[in-house]
Amino acid sequence: MKDDSCIFCKIANGEIPSNTIYEDGEFRVILDLGPASKGHALILPKSHYKDICEADQAVAEKLFPLAAKLGGAMKQSLGASGFNVVQNNGTSAGQTVFHLHVHVIPRYDGGPQMVAWNPQEANNDELKATAKVIRDTLG
Ligand code: 5GP
Ligand code: ZN
Repeated sequence: MKDDSCIFCKIANGEIPSNTIYEDGEFRVILDLGPASKGHALILPKSHYKDICEADQAVAEKLFPLAAKLGGAMKQSLGASGFNVVQNNGTSAGQTVFHLHVHVIPRYDGGPQMVAWNPQEANNDELKATAKVIRDTLG
């Protein structure tokens, strides 16, 4: 399940060289070419899925444990004091490469906060209604 036009398929399967920090039968973990911080890594499944909604469950359920393992190694090896796990789905969410990937971004004391948003006002009726439409869709 590879997509010949997908650059992350080529990287994940070793056709294009990368700075690999971990590899097993299902995943390759590489350093991001445009890092948010030193050690910023991308977990790439070797199979092509556009995003998390398309991923096989067996693949998806391994992503968080792998991210935790990598984050722990970054704290130990790089002196990071924390890390962000970020995963973008869709252009509006900032996804630019349409091959599922998870960012693991080490954070350092005094460094910039990577994942941030401006909290909006939300009243309780609105929160209730929003919760209901999502809950009803989930079934
Ligand atoms: P997205 O915005 O889709 O969540 O993240 C795509 C990430 O892939 C970006 O952080 C970008 O810097 C990184 N990236 C794009 N092309 C390449 C590449 O060819 N090699 C590596 N190592 N990273 C890439
Ligand atoms: Zn791909």
